[in-house]
Amino acid sequence: MTSRGPVPVPGELTFTAPRRAKPPRHLADLAPADRRALAGELGEKPFRAAQLATHYFEHLADDQEQMTDLPKATRGRLVEAMLPQLLTAVRHLDCDDGATRKTVWRLFDGATVESVLMRYPGRVTMCVSSQAGCGMNCPFCATGQAGLTRNMSAGEIVDQVVAGARMLRRGEFSGGPDHQQRISNVVFMGMGEALANYRSAVQAVRTLVAPQPDGLGLSARNLTMSTVGLVPAMRKFAAEGLPVTLAVSLHAPDDELRDTLVPINTRWRVAEVLDEARHYFEVTGRRISIEYALIRDINDQAWRADMLGTELNRRGRGWVHVNPIPLNPTPGSKWTASDPRVERTFVERLRAHGIPTTVRDTRGREIDGACGQLAAVTA
Ligand code: SAH
Repeated sequence: MTSRGPVPVPGELTFTAPRRAKPPRHLADLAPADRRALAGELGEKPFRAAQLATHYFEHLADDQEQMTDLPKATRGRLVEAMLPQLLTAVRHLDCDDGATRKTVWRLFDGATVESVLMRYPGRVTMCVSSQAGCGMNCPFCATGQAGLTRNMSAGEIVDQVVAGARMLRRGEFSGGPDHQQRISNVVFMGMGEALANYRSAVQAVRTLVAPQPDGLGLSARNLTMSTVGLVPAMRKFAAEGLPVTLAVSLHAPDDELRDTLVPINTRWRVAEVLDEARHYFEVTGRRISIEYALIRDINDQAWRADMLGTELNRRGRGWVHVNPIPLNPTPGSKWTASDPRVERTFVERLRAHGIPTTVRDTRGREIDGACGQLAAVTA
C-alpha cells in the first residue's frame, strides 16, 4: 500500500500543511497494484478494482446504480471504500460565452477550492487546485493572501479533472459545435503550490497519464506543472520520468525585486531557479515556460526584459519560452496590469534576444477565475 506521510522533499518542512483529518481514500490515490490489494483487503476479488476504475475513468460514472457489473450485495461497500465522493460543487460560474467555467468545490472537511475549465477550438484545458489555499504568500495573488489550509490528496486533484470531463461529456455547459468534448490539457495553476504537496501532485500526474482504465490517459506533454521555484522539488520532479511541461513563476529577473514578489525567493535565488529549470529541460527535453505577470511600474521596465533575456540566454538557446501575462486585479491590491504599450515593448525586447515570447490569454476575469484570482469565496 502506498503510505501517506510527510513528503520527503528536502527543505519542504517549513510549508508543511497543518495536521488534519485525511480526505477519504479513493482509488485515484493509489497505483493500480495497490487498488487490487485494497479490493483484496476488503474481501473482494482483485479485479473489482479494475471494474471500479473503468466506471470512474472511462464511464465517468457517479451513480452506483450504473455499475451493474458489480454484485449488488457488495456494490455499495466497494464504492464507499474506493470511490467515495470527494468534491461537492458549491457553484459554477460561466463566462466567455460559455467557453470558461469556474467551479467552487467543497471538500470533505469543508475546505473550498476552485477549478477552471477552458474550451478552445481543438483543445480543452482544466486548471486544477493542488492545495486548499497556498503557503507561498505572493502579494499579487489572491490565493496567497489567505494562507494554506491543507494539502489536497491525489484523489481530490484528479477528481477535479474527472468532474470536468463529466460536465463536458454530459454537455452541461454551452459552447460551439467546433468544441471537442474531452479534456486534453491539465495545468496545475489553480490554488496551491503543487510541488509543496509533492507526493499527491506526482501521484495525480501518474493517474492522469495512466492509460484507461487505470487513469485518464492524458498525454504527459499536455500537463503543465507550475512552480514558484522550489529547487529541490524541481530536481526530484525531473527524475520522475514524466515528460510534463514545467512552468516557472519568475515575475522578476533580479533577486531584489523577486524577494518581494515571490517571497520564497529568499530561499532559492533567481539564478538557482533558472539553473534548475535548465536542468529540467535537459533531463526531460521539455521546453520550460517562464511565467511573468506584468505589473505596472513594478517589473515591466524594458531593462528588466533585457536582463531576463540575458539571464535566459546565458543558459543556452532553445530551452525556454516566456509567457508574460497582464496582472489580473485582486481585491485590495494596489497593483494593476502594465500599460499595453509597455507590455508590447517588454515582449519585443525579449524577442530581440531571440526568446520565444507569447502573451498569455486571460480567461475568466469577470468570474474571478483568471490566474491569481482563485480565492474560493463561497458567499
Ligand atoms: N503556485 C503555482 C501555481 C499558481 S498560479 C505557481 O506559483 O506557479 C499560476 C500562475 O498565475 C503563477 O505564475 C502565478 O504567479 C500567476 N499569478 C498569480 N497571481 C496573478 C495575478 N494576479 N495576475 C496574473 N497572474 C497571476
